[in-house]
Amino acid sequence: MVHNLSRVVAQDKHFLNIVNGRPVAALSQETITVLCPSDGLAFATIPAGDADDVDRAVRAAREAFDRGPWSRMPAFERGRLLTRLGQLIEQHGDELAALESRDTGKPIRQGRADVAAAIRYYEFYGGAADKIHGDTIPFLDGYTALTLREPHGVVAGIIPWNYPMQIMARVVGAALAMGNTLVIKPAEDASLSTIRIGELAIEAGLPDGVLNVITGYGREAGAALSAHPDVDYVTFTGSPATGTAIQQAAAANNRGVTMELGGKSPQIVFADADIEKALPVLVNAIIQNGGQTCSAGSRILIERPIYDEVAAALGERFDKLVAGPHDADLDLGAMINPAQKRRVEDYVASAAEAGIDVIARGSIDAQAPTTGYYVVPVLFGAVDPAAIIAQEEVFGPVLTLFAFDDEQEAIRLANHTDYGLVAGIWTRDGARQHRVAKRVRAGQVFVNAYGAGGGVELPFGGFKKSGHGREKGFEALYDMSATKTIIFRHD
Ligand code: ADP
Repeated sequence: MVHNLSRVVAQDKHFLNIVNGRPVAALSQETITVLCPSDGLAFATIPAGDADDVDRAVRAAREAFDRGPWSRMPAFERGRLLTRLGQLIEQHGDELAALESRDTGKPIRQGRADVAAAIRYYEFYGGAADKIHGDTIPFLDGYTALTLREPHGVVAGIIPWNYPMQIMARVVGAALAMGNTLVIKPAEDASLSTIRIGELAIEAGLPDGVLNVITGYGREAGAALSAHPDVDYVTFTGSPATGTAIQQAAAANNRGVTMELGGKSPQIVFADADIEKALPVLVNAIIQNGGQTCSAGSRILIERPIYDEVAAALGERFDKLVAGPHDADLDLGAMINPAQKRRVEDYVASAAEAGIDVIARGSIDAQAPTTGYYVVPVLFGAVDPAAIIAQEEVFGPVLTLFAFDDEQEAIRLANHTDYGLVAGIWTRDGARQHRVAKRVRAGQVFVNAYGAGGGVELPFGGFKKSGHGREKGFEALYDMSATKTIIFRHD
């Protein structure tokens, strides 16, 4: 059944959850007010789901999984429905970009980029659904052994507020392609695009109960979902502390998890690098989405002979950066909420108090509402690698520079944090590109390039505190399924 939900949304701005193919309020009727980070003003409500709502959604997902047809449908038919959802997202692209950008405060062009990436995920996983298969294994005489890739069952996807549409797409694409059913819990600060795409999934023809969306606070809805005994697998993107809580909850049921927990990603710039090519990429890697990006390039290691030159060129660019409202489409938007703004400002204040050199600061647009959650981008130079600002994930537009003397030191500094998500290497020396790429502990390494987000076909995930398991690409399809081995005896 197709519900005409967009009209309801447009008039009332009271968004509803999706359970078993239908829009529903929270059982308690409680709501959370949605504020726009650009001006701090309310413009919508979402349901405040709690443990009862989670239970209702998990039961719907369980029934949809057990009853079929989803998990038993030919893989190409599941793929077609995902592709169809991608097409609907494309048709509603302007609406979704505007919604995402208003809900999160990100510049509208980033909202559009998120829509484009989301479409690619549904295309990719729509196409991949029937292209993943098991093996036959040479075994004893008189036997044939083979493997199947089977869905886990009910998957819980707990997603963050920084790139809701993209992260929803990578979870939904991989989980549904493999025949799982899903309960998605978006972040309380950015749930609108998830709900809207949940509505489009109904329109695309996904069977009832296959994709359920429950909004609510992390400590209520999120905690209930990760601890639910009928959830078979949990995938989470967010902070390490919340990741630990979710893993502990899932461990009580001995369920598998995929964890993507952020980073403190380095870019290493050697003296022979193409600096002109590197500069805009180095700046964008920390400014994109206001630095609220797991894979933000937040540390730049510069070979000493070019340190002053690169620091000065980055400083010039930082001086010109301007933060402002999402619809003004400036270099960066507002932070997601007042707590995040404070957190970034506290990091900056304590680094400056500790005597770390501020090379440059951007500015906030004079027209920006004073009630918005804006922060000024800051470039810190000559940072002590042990300093807090060099070690902890700020999740804001704060870039730190370090000097190094040789390749060994560059690798040591690059690996000198608890994280290991992404790294960038800038050098024209081919042998060095390979050597350094292999020795840097990061799930993705870019050479003479850097990409935060995007690249739907590229496996993504971390080492160390950045998490475990892999999302994106074909690898995610393995995380979202389990191997079953079948042994036939026929002697
Ligand atoms: P932040 O601290 O910036 O809000 P989180 O990593 O805590 O980021 O949030 C990411 C997602 O995890 C959100 O959907 C949030 O609601 C959810 N969440 C937060 N706390 C918990 C928890 N204890 N259990 C499960 N989910 C949670």
